[in-house]
Amino acid sequence: MLAAGPSDTNVVLVTVDTLRADRLGLYGYDRPTSPFLDELAGESVVFDRMFAQSSFTPPSHASIFTSLYVRQHGLLTWNWLDEGHVTLAEVLREAGYTTGAVANLGLLLQHNLGQGFEHRDQKDDGAERINLRAKQWLASIRGQKFFLWVHYFDVHAPYARHPGYERYFNEHHNPAVGRHMRYYNSEPATRRELRMTEADVAFIKDRYDGGVAFVDRALLGLVAELKALDVWDRTLLVVTSDHGESLDEHHPMYFTHDPFLYDAVIRIPAVIRFPGGRFGGARVRGMVESVDLAPTILSYLGLAIPLAFEGRDLMPMFRGQSEGREVVFSESWGWRTIKSIRTERWKLLWKIKADRFKLYDLEADAGELRDVSAEHPEVTERLKARLLKWADVEENPVRENPELDEEMRERLRSLGYMREGSQESLED
Ligand SMILES: [Zn+2]
Repeated sequence: MLAAGPSDTNVVLVTVDTLRADRLGLYGYDRPTSPFLDELAGESVVFDRMFAQSSFTPPSHASIFTSLYVRQHGLLTWNWLDEGHVTLAEVLREAGYTTGAVANLGLLLQHNLGQGFEHRDQKDDGAERINLRAKQWLASIRGQKFFLWVHYFDVHAPYARHPGYERYFNEHHNPAVGRHMRYYNSEPATRRELRMTEADVAFIKDRYDGGVAFVDRALLGLVAELKALDVWDRTLLVVTSDHGESLDEHHPMYFTHDPFLYDAVIRIPAVIRFPGGRFGGARVRGMVESVDLAPTILSYLGLAIPLAFEGRDLMPMFRGQSEGREVVFSESWGWRTIKSIRTERWKLLWKIKADRFKLYDLEADAGELRDVSAEHPEVTERLKARLLKWADVEENPVRENPELDEEMRERLRSLGYMREGSQESLED
């Protein structure tokens, strides 16, 4: 069967919050966490090394939608995306798409990531319910060309909270361990207080994988719905994430993403399934960034890429006509303000308030555990100069995070994002 032409193509963008690339079979994980996505990858273009622009949910999504880096779009943590920015949804709506989003966490209405979406369905919900709500909207707009954004929150802490998934990969441990938010973003003091053993830590890691398996099944359900609605053959599906998760790799905090820009947190999956499985099986090994997704989608559809977009069109890459990026950049404005620059071999982290730099040799130390900035001062200086130039600190001094109102604080506290005191250990 002939694939539909780009002008008839619907777009579905799925962002799976907190999903690490390396916990998926298609990226080499040895556990069966993602049978459906692994199979879908065979008929898709898979980006082996896509990096998120932030380790924080709203800014990272804003980078996907505006194709801008965080310092440019200004959604630093939990504030409002400035309406002057052009979003992917706005471009598609302008081009005649009916646009709809089903998302968690106040992203659409509290942070303005709903800009450009006519239908904004925002409620914290499990992936199966999200699918149901997406399906209802799709059924209501039958016959219209659409752009749908689906945001799943089920991989995020507390991990594997759905019945049947707590002990999906470890049936022997006490399922109460890791069920509540107090186990997450956990510093040494919290771990002592909870008397967490090594087996408990291992179990919570198993729970993370259980959450991935849950979402994989939800993705299967979503695609089944697209098929049932008879739109699958005319749909471009993108599956990606806003950031990964540091499990127990990096001290002092376990089961978190915000304060870190290590690869565990910024390397995200990116699978693009084109209509009819076009370009299927292509693996793109070069480094790319999540700001590149929006221009790539528009390029495939034959639509003009807004001048304001910073990202690159990746279409030439999987046709073998261009290389990956030489460097990629990420930023965190949460508990710590950090910026990073990553090359094929090196990662330089800049902790801004402390004005400290850490260098990791990714070839010798893929886990980013040993700072080698003192051993490689020339590399440190070279990357530092490049990072400072990119960050444009002269023109854009380090901004302060905006004040949050009490309602927002309460919401973030319930998600484990706000903790009073005891942050000094992070300023290492
Ligand atoms: Zn997130």
